[in-house]
Amino acid sequence: MAVPKKRKSKAAKRARYAANTKLSAAKFQRCPNCFAPRRPHRACGSCGFYREEQIVEVFEV
Ligand SMILES: [Zn+2]
Repeated sequence: MAVPKKRKSKAAKRARYAANTKLSAAKFQRCPNCFAPRRPHRACGSCGFYREEQIVEVFEV
């Protein structure tokens, strides 16, 4: 396998990564069952519903 004569420095690699990568805030949607905010494609944390079915038991504290 060919070995590159010069490798990019860690700083150069990280600078390129930082320039081309954007962080975004976590997305939230309303649960259609209880209207609590929940992450898309995840079961609701407060009622345990996903796609109009209860799939996770939720224990009251
Ligand atoms: Zn819910």
